[in-house]
Amino acid sequence: MRPLSFLAVSSLALIQSFAAGLTLPSSEAQIRRTRRSVNAQTQQELASVISSNSTIFGPTDANWANETESNNHNIPFYAVSRGHALTTSVGLFKGIEIDMRSLDGIHINSNSVTAQFQGGVYSDEVINTLWNQGFVTGNVYVWTTRKPNGTAVRVNENSHPDLWWAMRGAGHNFGIVTSFESKIWPDNFKTYFVKSYQFAGSSLDALIEQVNKFQGNGTLDPTWLGSFGLYTMNTTLSQTEATITWIFLYDGAQVDAEPALKPFDQLRPLSVDEVNVPYKVINDQIGGAVNGSLCEPNKTHILGTANLQTYNVTAMRAIYDLYNQKISQHPELGGTRVLVEGYAVQGVHSFKSDDSAFPLRDDNILTYFDVRFDSSDDPLIDFATEWRNQTVDLWNAGQPERKPTAYVNYAAGYEPLEARYGYEPWRLERLRKLKSQYDPNNRFAWYNPIIPPNTGY
Ligand SMILES: Cc1cc2nc3c(=O)[nH]c(=O)nc-3n(C[C@H](O)[C@H](O)[C@H](O)COP(=O)(O)OP(=O)(O)OC[C@H]3O[C@@H](n4cnc5c(N)ncnc54)[C@H](O)[C@@H]3O)c2cc1C
Repeated sequence: MRPLSFLAVSSLALIQSFAAGLTLPSSEAQIRRTRRSVNAQTQQELASVISSNSTIFGPTDANWANETESNNHNIPFYAVSRGHALTTSVGLFKGIEIDMRSLDGIHINSNSVTAQFQGGVYSDEVINTLWNQGFVTGNVYVWTTRKPNGTAVRVNENSHPDLWWAMRGAGHNFGIVTSFESKIWPDNFKTYFVKSYQFAGSSLDALIEQVNKFQGNGTLDPTWLGSFGLYTMNTTLSQTEATITWIFLYDGAQVDAEPALKPFDQLRPLSVDEVNVPYKVINDQIGGAVNGSLCEPNKTHILGTANLQTYNVTAMRAIYDLYNQKISQHPELGGTRVLVEGYAVQGVHSFKSDDSAFPLRDDNILTYFDVRFDSSDDPLIDFATEWRNQTVDLWNAGQPERKPTAYVNYAAGYEPLEARYGYEPWRLERLRKLKSQYDPNNRFAWYNPIIPPNTGY
């Protein structure tokens, strides 16, 4: 095990080589200059954007050779942005973490049609920065990514089309993105209508039938952003059974949304909330607020997922009954969340499946089972793991004609690779071939890796 001070210094050398050669006008460019010569001013500029534990030196410094050698010495490294990765492979990592958070520049181009982003930006700051200037985000059309040796590769559909294919679905296996450019759209500042229902278990079967009609097996009109369901304990409503929350998001006026929601009004909800909100807080409405409890660090999660096309009423009922049975045994697990997400997916279907590494364009619904613990040796972890397995099995049993699939951002890490990256054999073959070309030593192997990491440190 190497002393910490060595790792801290090494991490800067790696950041320098990853950040070299960028065209962005802010801190990344300051780091680039250090590659040529590190003078006092540059050191001062760098000090404002990097960790106080780091040491700054350039190629003429006696330390340079030793520190850039760390790459050759096979020390694992790993980019950390918001640190929300939950998949088990991340827990295997020991080595140098590259903190991306200082790379937070956002620059709207003078054409007001595109914007540049540095590689450490996160959703909340992107949404707010753009919204404050009258814009919302669109699709990424170019990435600048770094190969393991720090070389920059500009990736779009014309430049490195093979990586362009791979990065849309499996990008974390191929490099560290130091910047990207995206289309942006003017926000017309209209409001979004959000209606949130709380139901008792007795309404569940009729509710799921209505939700299936509403979602239309992947045909939901994109004026609806989607509808999202949650089973969890709300002890102000019931001490013994989970409350079912179902939230509907509409891009437009309340009066236009109301007719489609009438069937849900008639299902005897326990309570209903309605709000009209701007774009920038929609995420908060579905529990994704940046400071929300979901994002709390240093928790242990027992996760499970199974993608669906439509809801099987029997399976959703069985999962609900199982939830109540488990809570009767261990009421302290009442924060457990069974979450289902039905987005409007016409846009997802409009892309040809073979055109990207994302293999799951037929999966209309995402699911997420999550039991959260304060420590990794909680005595109820085995109990929660069994519950997770039973829940995922029920979801999959409800669609026996489909093979189990798992959205890579929700995968827990134990799912077959095919479930995450696609069952057609050519997909994993193509990804592995690209790995041998762009990352032959498998340095990017810590997040749902295509090729397992070598952990014999
Ligand atoms: C409570 C919760 C809710 C979530 N909700 C959603 C959701 O609604 N939709 C969704 O899609 N996902 C969701 N996720 C999953 C989340 O998007 C993924 O875990 C995502 O990878 C987290 O990114 P991060 O930057 O926070 O994590 P990190 O742990 O910092 O990074 C995740 C992975 O990306 C790599 N990485 C980070 N930055 C870069 C970079 N610049 N270049 C290359 N690789 C990089 C890291 O090395 C790591 O492998 C949720 C996760 C949690 C915990």
